[in-house]
Amino acid sequence: MRLLLRARDGALVESVLIPGPARTTLCISSQVGCARACAFCETGRLGLERQLSAGEIVDQVRLARAEWAALGGEPALSNIVFMGMGEPFDNLGEVLRAIRLLTDARAFGFAPSRVTVSTVGVADKLPAFFAGARAELAVSLNAPDDERRRAIMPVNARFSMAALREAIERSMPQGRRVLFEYVLFDGFNDAPEDADLLAAYVRGLRCRVNVIPCNPGPDPRLRPPSPERLEAFVARLSSHEITTLVRRPRGRDVGGACGQLAGARRLVVVQGSDVG
Ligand code: SF4
Repeated sequence: MRLLLRARDGALVESVLIPGPARTTLCISSQVGCARACAFCETGRLGLERQLSAGEIVDQVRLARAEWAALGGEPALSNIVFMGMGEPFDNLGEVLRAIRLLTDARAFGFAPSRVTVSTVGVADKLPAFFAGARAELAVSLNAPDDERRRAIMPVNARFSMAALREAIERSMPQGRRVLFEYVLFDGFNDAPEDADLLAAYVRGLRCRVNVIPCNPGPDPRLRPPSPERLEAFVARLSSHEITTLVRRPRGRDVGGACGQLAGARRLVVVQGSDVG
């Protein structure tokens, strides 16, 4: 279920509620638009309109939870992911404030392990993130080398893959781990040799890798791989003893999977919301 909330200044804030058999997850936004311009992302085409306040971030949770309960939705909302509009590390102060509220037993009471913040890899903000929140960290990698990553993720021009890896290794506290997200694009980053490169990159870090067939996005050249190529990639990565999961974007049917929260056209509008 896709939610579009209108803030007091008219800004539109998007979230997606993704019910599953075992848990219901809410994907929330941290900014209106985004400045990071990833090639596969609808939001990246908008540019940054403005930051969301901590109040506007947690209001997405409050209103979605109320809507879901009013519909008699099951299971109850249990997980929060910052994978909607915006790069959370570009609004880190408000994101950390929101996480404190979401994980405070006197407020929302989510376990920190059920809150995940996904970044494109703004490496110099990692120490502040780890110091400020116990939430899970996801890093969107999406390519096995700098040349290809730079082609689809401009952030790589500022923080190379080596710099990102070094920052994770240096700043990640004991007992924490990172989830690497690797979106597969047909013929671009999905060869078995690319799995070898990816395995070499993550080896030695406490991590898991989520492999995600891409959603159709703004660049028509970036298409999902065939099931056979997906399977071959995952098998090769697993052969390196890397903990690998395949995530099939469950928000796809409403165009609300990662990187798609920009086209405000097929939405459930929560009337009269008081976001902001
Ligand atoms: S993928 Fe995330 S960081 Fe990249 S443009 Fe989209 S919203 Fe911004």
